[in-house]
Amino acid sequence: MNLIFLGPPGAGKGTQAKNICNDYGVVQLSTGDILRANKKEGTPLGKTAQEYMDRGDLVPDDLIIKMIREEMKKPSCSNGCLLDGFPRTVVQARALEILLGEMGKKLDSVLVLDVPDEELVRRLSARLTCKSCGRSYNNIFNPPKVEGVCDDDGAELYQREDDSEKSIRNRLEIYKKMTSPLIDFYSNQDLCDEISGSGQINEIYSGIKNLLDKY
Ligand code: AMP
Repeated sequence: MNLIFLGPPGAGKGTQAKNICNDYGVVQLSTGDILRANKKEGTPLGKTAQEYMDRGDLVPDDLIIKMIREEMKKPSCSNGCLLDGFPRTVVQARALEILLGEMGKKLDSVLVLDVPDEELVRRLSARLTCKSCGRSYNNIFNPPKVEGVCDDDGAELYQREDDSEKSIRNRLEIYKKMTSPLIDFYSNQDLCDEISGSGQINEIYSGIKNLLDKY
């Protein structure tokens, strides 16, 4: 199964992607997580990406496409992958079509998570991320068991630099301008499945499972 998770920042893509990967044996490929790992390790890609990411701007297409090409060709993706945060532009979507064609693969579905703007700002402002594994929590509706500490590995939780209010607003604007046209792009290919991303995490996941069980 090759899936795309599409939706604005804060829609819950990362959280739901982890559930899907556990249940369906696909690998989550989160371009945001890969970039943050590069930033932490201080690689040339991480250094270049940092200024774009901290402002909430998109990292240039050519860098992202090169990165995702390398990731998707790894053996771990042979059972399929869940693309989380990629593609974010029409240029990236076209590059993905070429890449999948070269690999003899196809897209099964594009899951679109829909959440109102004000809810997104509220969620992102309260989001905490694990410094070690990248798991997301939310102080309001999905807090860790022990304050400030990841349930999975005990590492410290932090607020991402791009989860400041200014950067959040910028990311939402960019989503509307650059990424939301992909909903039409994939609807035209009859690939989109829209899901409401509001409500309890497990209820949203039930809706996703109902859809995926079709494939
Ligand atoms: P995310 O964790 O998906 O919210 O991504 C965090 C940041 O990484 C974004 O705000 C962008 O700066 C960068 N980024 C992640 N994925 C992409 C992508 N597909 N294209 C361009 N920039 C990206």
